Formats: sequence, C-alpha cells, structure tokens
Amino acid sequence: MKNLWIIAVLFGLISCKSEAQQEEQKTRDYKVKKTENEWKAELTQEEFNILRKAGTERPFSSPLDDVKESGTFVCAACGNELYETKHKFDSGTGWPSFDRAFDGSLAMSSDRNLGYERSELLCGDCGGHLGHLFDDGPRETTGKRHCINGVALKFIPKQKK
Ligand SMILES: [Zn+2]
Repeated sequence: MKNLWIIAVLFGLISCKSEAQQEEQKTRDYKVKKTENEWKAELTQEEFNILRKAGTERPFSSPLDDVKESGTFVCAACGNELYETKHKFDSGTGWPSFDRAFDGSLAMSSDRNLGYERSELLCGDCGGHLGHLFDDGPRETTGKRHCINGVALKFIPKQKK
C-alpha cells in the first residue's frame, strides 16, 4: 500500500513538471493568442500537428521545397512574414531550408525530443512551431540552416509588374 502511494506521488511530480512546461509555452507573450481549440478549428489537421504539436513532416513531401521564384514565405497560422526566396537554398534534406529569416520574425526555444538539445524555431507572432536551426548552412553566407516544415509556411509569389 505504501509503495502505491510512492508511485502515485512520483507520477504526480512527473505530470506536474510537464504541465508546468506546457504552461510556460502557452503564457509566452505572443501577439497572436489563440486557444488550442481555436487553432484546431482554424488549421488543417496536418498544420495543427506541426505548428501546435511540434510535429515534423516527411522529407521531400512539401511542394515548397522546390520553390525558386521570388516571393515571401509567411507563417501558415498567422501570416507573419518569415523568409524570402533569395535566402532559400537547396540543403538536400527534403525540407525547405533558409540561411536567415526576416529580422525579429522568429522566436527561439529548445527541445530535447531526440535526446539531444536542438534549437527550435517558432513564429515570433503566434509561437507556432516551424522547425529547427542548425549550424551547417552555407559557409559563404550565414553558416546557418533553418530547417523548416513546408506545412508551417505559405508561399506568396512576388507580384509581377
Ligand atoms: Zn505565426
């Protein structure tokens, strides 16, 4: 009986911790604030899974990986302008990759979902999960690789004059 109690307390501690972490994510002060239910109603299931649940799309699954024409990539959830085609490069990973974002457009976090620390890239306006930041980008520019889920982005081609 005593053992059961200890197990119950331990479970309580573990769940408290993860709730506290989730709470921290939710209460960060983003310009666009919606409840998870509101996001769920607005986004497709795939978008919700990636932007709100930090999922990862299958590599080479996004048509945006092949975009080469001039334009802007905005957050699929809130429309925040994040990237432009001129900073996109072919990383060969199968995910849209950029060497930089528009200044101030992103928020950063970190996760250990794969057992090691990774820098997570979030939309600076709504906190939606976009992808991760790596240091193996093109050396001749920033050296950074923003590895982004195409599902988290919408492409807006530049208006032709
Ligand atoms: Zn956003």
